Amino acid sequence: MSPIAETESTVTRFAPSPTGLLHLGHAYSALFAQRIATEAGGRFLLRIEDIDAGRCKPEFDAAIQEDLAWLGLAWEEPVRRQSEHMADYRAALDRLAAESLLYPCFCTRKEILTEIERAGGAPQGPEGPLYPGTCRTLTAEERRTRIATGEAYALRLDAAEAGRRAGPLSWDEIGRGPQVCDPLRHGDVVLARKDVATSYHLAVTTDDALQGVTLVTRGEDLFEATHVHRLLQALLGLPAPRYRHHRLLTDESGRRFAKRDQSLTLRALREAGHAPSDILPMIGLDA
Ligand code: GLU
Repeated sequence: MSPIAETESTVTRFAPSPTGLLHLGHAYSALFAQRIATEAGGRFLLRIEDIDAGRCKPEFDAAIQEDLAWLGLAWEEPVRRQSEHMADYRAALDRLAAESLLYPCFCTRKEILTEIERAGGAPQGPEGPLYPGTCRTLTAEERRTRIATGEAYALRLDAAEAGRRAGPLSWDEIGRGPQVCDPLRHGDVVLARKDVATSYHLAVTTDDALQGVTLVTRGEDLFEATHVHRLLQALLGLPAPRYRHHRLLTDESGRRFAKRDQSLTLRALREAGHAPSDILPMIGLDA
């Protein structure tokens, strides 16, 4: 499977967001990461990705840990909770800002759509049309004035400039070999949201480095996000972990498991009388 055998220096992690109960897809992802680490004699970490205070709930944080323990997983303490580490994300933003790689973006979603329409379209990114760069060309004076009047703003990466500074990049995708990183894949991505002083991309990249993660395992749906993560690692002088994006589990009708599938949460299965050992065949893993 891997040209580079895992060793006792391998560190993997499972990084759920506490926005709901864990379902079978999460069980697969958690066991995938934990087994690689355990089989290699390495370390397995749990990280709670709770930057989105509006959507994350402490009761889901507790439920995640309870359900993973029920499943038989063990992880190193302490659990890293992103909401407790905002200063780390701030430091990363400061570094990028000091290198003039960030700019404030005042646009609302509606303004972005209107601008894309006016321009007759925009290049497509993995999550829809790319940001048209409206605020990239504001003058320093305009930025200052709008910030001073209390207008809300996000911080975006100047992706073209970031790509130039970083130079050619790739990441090692186990089973698929080196993947060429495209710094423009997500356009001028948001690194600090208007409502949260960081973003998924910035927090994940910072944390994987600070926690010494050597192998990032996660679902195939996050493969594209790795373009941003690899770029940020280069800009922030962080080590590049290896990656292994795994398949996504689907139900009988071929739909991905999602938080809406209440009957397939670990909690519901447990309450219906299933034992942890019943879960493995459900997700196609051996005991
Ligand atoms: N928190 C993300 C999620 O629950 C996973 C992040 C990652 O593994 O990089 O989808």
